[in-house]
Amino acid sequence: MKDSPTILSSPIEYLKGVGPLRGDLLKKELEIFTFEDLLHHFPHRHIDKTKVSKINMINYQTDFIQIAGVLQQFDIVGEKRAKRLVAYLKDDTGAVELTWFQGINWVQKNLVPGQKYLVFGRTGFFNGRPQMVHPEIEPFVLAKADGKDYLEPVYPATEKLKARGLNGRQLAKLTFQLFSQIKPTDIPENIPDAIFKKLQLMNRYEAFSNLHFPVSQEAYQLALRRLKFEEFFIAQIRLNLVRLQRHHSSKGVVFEKVGDLFNDFYNHHLPFELTGAQKRVIREIRTDTGRGHQMNRLLQGDVGSGKTIVALLSMLLAADNGYQSCMMAPTEILAQQHYNGLKQLLKDMPVEIALLTGSIKGKERKRILNGLLDDSIHFVVGTHAVIEDVVQFKNLGLVIVDEQHRFGVAQRARLWEKAAVPPHVLVMTATPIPRTLAMTAYGDLDYSVMDELPPGRQPITTVHRNEMARASVMEFVRTEINKGRQAYFIYPLIEESEKLSYEDLMQGYEQVKSFFPEPTYRISMVHGRQSAEEKETNMQRFVQHDTHIMVSTTVIEVGVNVPNATVMVIESSEKFGLSQLHQLRGRVGRGSEKSFCILLTGSKVSKDAKERINTMCATNDGFKIAEKDLELRGPGDIEGTRQSGELNFKVASIVNDKDLLELAKTTAEQCCEEDPTLDMAKNLLLKKYLRSQKGKNAWSRIS
Ligand code: ADP
Ligand code: MG
Repeated sequence: MKDSPTILSSPIEYLKGVGPLRGDLLKKELEIFTFEDLLHHFPHRHIDKTKVSKINMINYQTDFIQIAGVLQQFDIVGEKRAKRLVAYLKDDTGAVELTWFQGINWVQKNLVPGQKYLVFGRTGFFNGRPQMVHPEIEPFVLAKADGKDYLEPVYPATEKLKARGLNGRQLAKLTFQLFSQIKPTDIPENIPDAIFKKLQLMNRYEAFSNLHFPVSQEAYQLALRRLKFEEFFIAQIRLNLVRLQRHHSSKGVVFEKVGDLFNDFYNHHLPFELTGAQKRVIREIRTDTGRGHQMNRLLQGDVGSGKTIVALLSMLLAADNGYQSCMMAPTEILAQQHYNGLKQLLKDMPVEIALLTGSIKGKERKRILNGLLDDSIHFVVGTHAVIEDVVQFKNLGLVIVDEQHRFGVAQRARLWEKAAVPPHVLVMTATPIPRTLAMTAYGDLDYSVMDELPPGRQPITTVHRNEMARASVMEFVRTEINKGRQAYFIYPLIEESEKLSYEDLMQGYEQVKSFFPEPTYRISMVHGRQSAEEKETNMQRFVQHDTHIMVSTTVIEVGVNVPNATVMVIESSEKFGLSQLHQLRGRVGRGSEKSFCILLTGSKVSKDAKERINTMCATNDGFKIAEKDLELRGPGDIEGTRQSGELNFKVASIVNDKDLLELAKTTAEQCCEEDPTLDMAKNLLLKKYLRSQKGKNAWSRIS
């Protein structure tokens, strides 16, 4: 069935008042190609002409304000980059300085001193006087005197559009025109009736209409709620369909039994009692892998929550059912460490495990490759690059990707090619992902959370110290080392090209050495410019307690496990992101001794950096930290999230609209569970809508 085009798909130039020239501009500047695109170009705010503040009300707490007054003469002050146009706006209570750094000519040409203007913007203070930089400004017209709210939409427009006479106000006119050309049936409902009624949503046409031209504040809020819900709901429906479809269509290896290997290990070789969370996740994995469809599971567990043992038990489960497993780590250090750890745990078990990294060459490499082909090697641990490229398995059943939730769909697909039936995939990450982000960006995966640490861990004490306090920090480190503990000193990342930070690191190394002279103290150093062997040697010396101190860049960020290390000093900690600081800190507090993390900074620290550091000092909870990170940086920038369009909600925000997101998620799940193909009559409108949106985003292309 093909959908017939609606008026909303008409090219924008056909809208009365647009025409070819303006049409071109709208396409180029705002990507508005059709009537529908204009409908979705939402005002970023509304002017309530009845709410005008007086200038003397501006104080240090004022954020955005709307004022009206007479524009005074222009003046150009400053030079070069500081060159700016200023003019005072005066009302009967005072004056505020308006400032423009750009578009000076345009402003001078179009604004007339002596006229009264309505001005909106953020206020600040400059030399103790109130100031507004690049305010929104338009000639003042008296508000309607009917006592009602009068909310005029203000649309985002570019400088270029403004220069060609298509300012925010003109866009309002065009949108108004659009509404006069369409009927309510042109914006049909897309949410199933029962849901619509139960949640008391505003209908779709009304919602669009009120988002642009609200009849009242209340109507605007209802419109907003409806459209936010719709955005989340549609996205959740898509994610659910992708997930369900994968469950139905993709065959999977079946791990039907728990056999001798698993049981023997569990009953006789497990070095500790599993935490409740570990047990739960293993059950989830068991259910997943026994069902006959491929598992795609994201396992989130805070640093130190014990993901490795979960991985090992899953691998034993695979082996019990005659399948091989591979475990991929992001770095050689980590691969090596996993290998050592697993080998130790498996020493009395009849399974063969091998390590495969770039530095394993020649005969040994050949032996491993052959072993994987003839199934005499059951588990292989390595770096992804290596395993993805060259390795062929006899019967790969399980792939574990450690510390890499960025591991994408394409990469996974490459692994599937290695087997007739795709292996199960377990992606493990210690970068907690806020629930809202997990629900949107990873909603197509099944996910497990390990929110419990093994017993006996003491919380890490984190403090912030100024560089001036370095000597006392060093003394503190010395007392820990003298107690038999070990310490990390971390420096910001060294890029191959970054000469400066390399010098910083070397200087830091010398400095640490001067406080901790040989032969009493021994120091390891690891950084990105070293060869794999060099890194490994230095790492091993630290692991074996041959050295007391590890000076390192962030290459040790993930996974490294040295339980005897109890102090971490992070240099220039203001340069690190929150989740990175949390990851780094996770390298200490891994044993039974009390651990400490000292965040060193210079004396000048930006507001954001200060907030990151305070957050670190206040909590050890990775999920709280992730929430804060999301709040500070917004979803687009969160490290390790997929950079595609899934998070581009137009009206809704995963930071501010959590409750609506939860609601949309549960509602969508119920809907898809009941009717996974959306063929029931009551879901017809929804299905029709989804089909009409095909090709507009990545998810519809997958499904
Ligand atoms: P991560 O989740 O950060 O990868 P690991 O798997 O490296 O954590 O485990 C961290 C440490 O905790 C290891 O030394 C491990 O042996 C230990 N551990 C894991 N699970 C438990 C448990 N249930 N009880 C006690 N110690 C545990
Ligand atoms: Mg780990």
